[in-house]
Amino acid sequence: MNMFRVDRERLWSSLMEMGVFGATADGGCRRLTLTEEDKQARDLFCSWAKAANCRITVDRIGNIFARREGTDPQAAPIMIGSHLDTVPTGGKFDGVLGVVAGIEVLRRLDELSIRTRAPVEVVVWTNEEGSRFSPMTLGSSVFVGDYSLETALGRTDDAGVTVAEALARIGYAGNGAVGDREVSAYLELHVEQGPLLKEGGEQIGIVSGSFNARYFVATVKGEPGHVGPTPMDMRRDALVAASALTLEIDRIGRSRGRDGRSNAPHLSLYPNVRGVIPGEVRLSCDVRHSDRSEMLAMERELREACARVASERRVEISLDQYFAFGPIEFDSGMTALVRETAKALEFSHRDILTVASHDAIPMNTICPTALIFVPSETGISHNAAEYSTPEQCGDGADILLNMALRL
Ligand SMILES: [Zn+2]
Repeated sequence: MNMFRVDRERLWSSLMEMGVFGATADGGCRRLTLTEEDKQARDLFCSWAKAANCRITVDRIGNIFARREGTDPQAAPIMIGSHLDTVPTGGKFDGVLGVVAGIEVLRRLDELSIRTRAPVEVVVWTNEEGSRFSPMTLGSSVFVGDYSLETALGRTDDAGVTVAEALARIGYAGNGAVGDREVSAYLELHVEQGPLLKEGGEQIGIVSGSFNARYFVATVKGEPGHVGPTPMDMRRDALVAASALTLEIDRIGRSRGRDGRSNAPHLSLYPNVRGVIPGEVRLSCDVRHSDRSEMLAMERELREACARVASERRVEISLDQYFAFGPIEFDSGMTALVRETAKALEFSHRDILTVASHDAIPMNTICPTALIFVPSETGISHNAAEYSTPEQCGDGADILLNMALRL
């Protein structure tokens, strides 16, 4: 089999070039979705895609598609993509690698003068991270029909700005229809964001499926009161209760060893005023496990913890699920193709589960999808220290290029 390689230096310099937008002093990136920094990153993507002779379209949720035509005008495209937005404490690799590697595939196809049968499209999905607008994977979820366009456009950030307004402000409120078209396959390259590949020394992670995850908002209702005069025994402090609940949530995950995760990463506090006992807290939290029945047991424990803390702290706690994913199984033909490609390129590899959601998860519901991980050198992400080496990034891009050609 004739195997091709990407230009690793060019891939790396493009990654670093993209990392300039929203660069932070500690070497990370703060590029929240649909901000000025995101616009700059999108503009650079479009200029690269144009230079690679692609036609660019933007759909109404702001997803950008760079299309390189094939020889068969009837054929549905092979899509390669990921996201350019980051969390506030993000790095240079999460999401960006999948997009920039897609651009590198287009450049390499041009250099090699290869005309594919099907078109190849590189896509930038809107709001994967969900840190400015909830929920996450918004653009890809609307594309596959999980949410209506109207629902998505109406989501607001903390300042009350809607997705529709934010899209218009940065000039990416496109006019293309969202989804409702055939995709022959979707490929996403991503950094692992965990330590397993680094620990095991494998070059490629073939994502066979996902953890099971459920996301909730716990609303804790106490009673506001004057912080001074109110005796301790008369207080119904929502923040103290939410703090007790946070410790319980942490315990639930820790009790499962490495297969369980539990998080309580965000809270809103009312009235959040110095002189007033907190009357209400909304705490976002989630439980995740590789095994579905264990995840359900974790949810049960979470509900028990809510009831216990509510009675001990004399508050009301309600738990509302707002998001879930898993169990997901990726297309076995696609995972087999990743394995074959890795073997042919002589890359060591292992099967792995994804703990986080990615755009590949919604895409997996409409077309054969492959999610491919490369090692996270530092074992972490959503952090300035997130890092993969030029070689690791290049290995992943080589897989994309050869898979796109095989498909
Ligand atoms: Zn990501």
